[in-house]
Amino acid sequence: MSGPKHECGVFGIWAPGADVARLTFFALYALQHRGQESAGIATTDGERVFTHRGLGLVTQAFTEDDLRPLVGGAAIGHNRYSTRGATTLRNAQPFVLQTLHGPLGLAHNGNITNARTLRRLLLEKGVGLSTASDSELALQALAVPVAGAPEPTPAHPIWVPRLQRLLRVAEGAYSLTVLTRDGIFAVRDPHGFRPLCIGELPLDDGRTGYIVASESCTLPPIGARYVRDVEPGEIVRVGPRGVESWRDPAALPTPAMCVFEYVYFARPDSDLEGRSVHLLRQRFGERLAQESPVEADIVVGVPDSALPAGIGFARGAGLEYIEGLIKNRYIGRTFIQPDAKLRKDKVRLKYTPLRANLEGKRVVLVDDSIVRGSTAGPLVQLLRDGGAAEVHVRISSPPVRHPCFMGVDLGTHDEIIAHQKSVEEIRAHIGADSLAYLSRAGMLEVVRAESAERGYCSACFDGDYPISLEDGTTKLQFEDIHGA
Ligand code: 5GP
Ligand code: MG
Repeated sequence: MSGPKHECGVFGIWAPGADVARLTFFALYALQHRGQESAGIATTDGERVFTHRGLGLVTQAFTEDDLRPLVGGAAIGHNRYSTRGATTLRNAQPFVLQTLHGPLGLAHNGNITNARTLRRLLLEKGVGLSTASDSELALQALAVPVAGAPEPTPAHPIWVPRLQRLLRVAEGAYSLTVLTRDGIFAVRDPHGFRPLCIGELPLDDGRTGYIVASESCTLPPIGARYVRDVEPGEIVRVGPRGVESWRDPAALPTPAMCVFEYVYFARPDSDLEGRSVHLLRQRFGERLAQESPVEADIVVGVPDSALPAGIGFARGAGLEYIEGLIKNRYIGRTFIQPDAKLRKDKVRLKYTPLRANLEGKRVVLVDDSIVRGSTAGPLVQLLRDGGAAEVHVRISSPPVRHPCFMGVDLGTHDEIIAHQKSVEEIRAHIGADSLAYLSRAGMLEVVRAESAERGYCSACFDGDYPISLEDGTTKLQFEDIHGA
């Protein structure tokens, strides 16, 4: 009962005197690609907590009137990923609580894989739960005291031992922003599956405000500067004492950042681990051109996520890069579902072929991934309708063959096309003249360049999961919550 899987965007800001709700709104707007199902903001003035959550895009979830009551000097925000599960406001984040130690709010990106165990242990402790969400479990676990924890001081806040315990007991993926009266905590699971970074914001009174965010693309729009990533297994607090950092000696970091963030998920103008996502995507494309060249006239990337890989492929192949598909930029996540006939052609609602560039050309179509396999076929047909003489599909990642349990909704084994079919069968299925994927080795070489010592999670490509997927193995480690 871990609830729907969710890739999401999280944010936090400590900036007394600034309009933190408005800044959070614009940061969530920059993180819109990480979740379109719901958006929410929680602020605090140190005593009270103010929250607004709404369904849909950030601009649908918030009006000026919704922002105005969100006062205080600190805020967290959350964008929730659309899943196949029910779209309900009840699962929208941030989640908030009042505690003996002031307000406590939490925004979570990822998926806690031992949620069933944590849930049972919390319920046995008498903690009430109101959703099926693994994120609510993380929040409630923070509200439970740690037995024998030292008296809190300004330098050793009450939340640190509780966050350390969470790092020990919660398995899977979690990048968290946590709202308290003493600043914002940012926490990354010991594998560091999902990204999280720290920024600095100059304030009008000469002081420095701080940001924590899923991606660095949130920083420039709000006038902030990138400082560094939160490290796997690290607990960071930003607040009146600047940037502070803790770890738990029993939650050793075992870095396994999600490679799919580089392939598809993150925004191209973000830096992950200090490296440009756009540049890495170009290198995937270049590498793919070396591995699987093809006789052709032009290279077309699938907007928007595969444009850098398309540019890289063209450079690597010495071919002309040109626009061949126009994407309706306003498509977003719509609540109006096309009727059955249109749904079959849903790709046509989103893309139009540019006949002027395609007529009579042998086209290399570069996309970043094939997951369920329902997009590539219609795209190939669209290019042929637009006059392309040949369509050669090149995918800038290896075949996705396995589900993700760490927060990306790639579907089940049954739904994932490369789990069922060979590359040749997929080529036939999508009607391409040829099809090739980037090799796993090629992808990992690109990702590991300059950070060879780091580990990555590529489980969706190779089934090599960095965590045990057996829920219920953490009972012993949880004992200190249980017995507290
Ligand atoms: P599929 O093969 O499932 O029909 O779709 C592949 C396409 O969806 C690619 O163009 C890729 O950019 C995009 N894609 C890959 N992963 C995700 C995801 O997690 N969510 C969404 N909305 N699109 C994805
Ligand atoms: Mg795409």
